[in-house]
Amino acid sequence: MNRIFNFSAGPCTLPVPALQSAAGEFLEYKGKGMSLIEMSHRSKEYDAVHREAADLVRRLYELPDSYKVLFLGGGASLQFSMVPMNLMEPGGRCDLALTGAWSKKALADARKIGTVNLAYDGTDENFMDLPDPATLRPGAGSAYFHLTSNETIGGVQWQRFPATGSVPLVCDMSSDFVSRPLDVSQFGLIYAGAQKNAGPAGAAIVIIREDLLERSGDHLTSYLNYATHAAKDSMYNTPPVFAVYMIMKTLQWLEGLGGLEAAERMAKERSGLIYGAMAKSAGFYSCPVKEHCRSVMNVVFRLPDEELEKKFVAEALENGMSGLKGHRSVGGCRASIYNAMPVAGARTLAEFMNDFASRN
Ligand SMILES: *Cc1c(COP(=O)(O)O)cnc(C)c1O
Repeated sequence: MNRIFNFSAGPCTLPVPALQSAAGEFLEYKGKGMSLIEMSHRSKEYDAVHREAADLVRRLYELPDSYKVLFLGGGASLQFSMVPMNLMEPGGRCDLALTGAWSKKALADARKIGTVNLAYDGTDENFMDLPDPATLRPGAGSAYFHLTSNETIGGVQWQRFPATGSVPLVCDMSSDFVSRPLDVSQFGLIYAGAQKNAGPAGAAIVIIREDLLERSGDHLTSYLNYATHAAKDSMYNTPPVFAVYMIMKTLQWLEGLGGLEAAERMAKERSGLIYGAMAKSAGFYSCPVKEHCRSVMNVVFRLPDEELEKKFVAEALENGMSGLKGHRSVGGCRASIYNAMPVAGARTLAEFMNDFASRN
């Protein structure tokens, strides 16, 4: 076996102990003569997995009792529609901070349901900056305030969040979920596609404050209604059983390492190594993102020209590092360094960056 350092933005590297544990029990789960993914989702074996996965989210975030954890199909993108459909009256108003490619998608879907006020619009800064959260206020009659805690493509990350008073703060945390301690009581709803920090693609984790479930109107179809899923503990329909099982394995690994404090410490160490290599390069590498809001999950950088960027990505691959090409919409390079990326991976990349710069 020869596992390489995988810097892909998602799906992405997962913890080896979680993958090994799943591989070891994949064909036959706990002496039942079948794989977990072949079993009824009503079996007591799957039920235990489902509960433990939700409990792990509760324990890691120290969730107050007033929050529900849901596992839904459709990834984070389905939440771009479920959030406005459930939290806002048709034709209502909400606020959104437009900070990059993902918040742009959330904006487009919310606009199909009601009016979206841009509390912040980073277009003129090319989405390379974030505002001081203290300057942001929800507008009158706003149903919720949406932001994207980490822009996976642009590489900007909120360090603190706006205080939105009685207007619920809704956050797409797909690419920095379970990566740092957080006071969840600041938020009305948090959602995350699993495939960056928490498991495989195809499932979203939703943390919702229970009083918000009252907003989900009867006009909504069953699956698109949060209240349907909350009432059945995400068992209204067949849940994405394999994804939930891998989420459990991944979060068990994280809890064993020391939970969110450990995740944050490692994220700072990994990102420090790569930003450090950039700083040392005397301008060979440059980060377009303003320093105060640089992501510790997705580090974006440019080289002097596109030819060198191509060469960098190709040579990195020859040296056991994949996935370093930037998103097709912005170009350049990007190192996605989620929870499961070992610090050794970031160190190897930083050393390669030094070496590549001196040779070129
Ligand atoms: C990846 C990502 C999404 C989309 O997730 P899907 O599961 O593909 O729908 C949404 N928001 C952010 C911030 C992401 O990084």
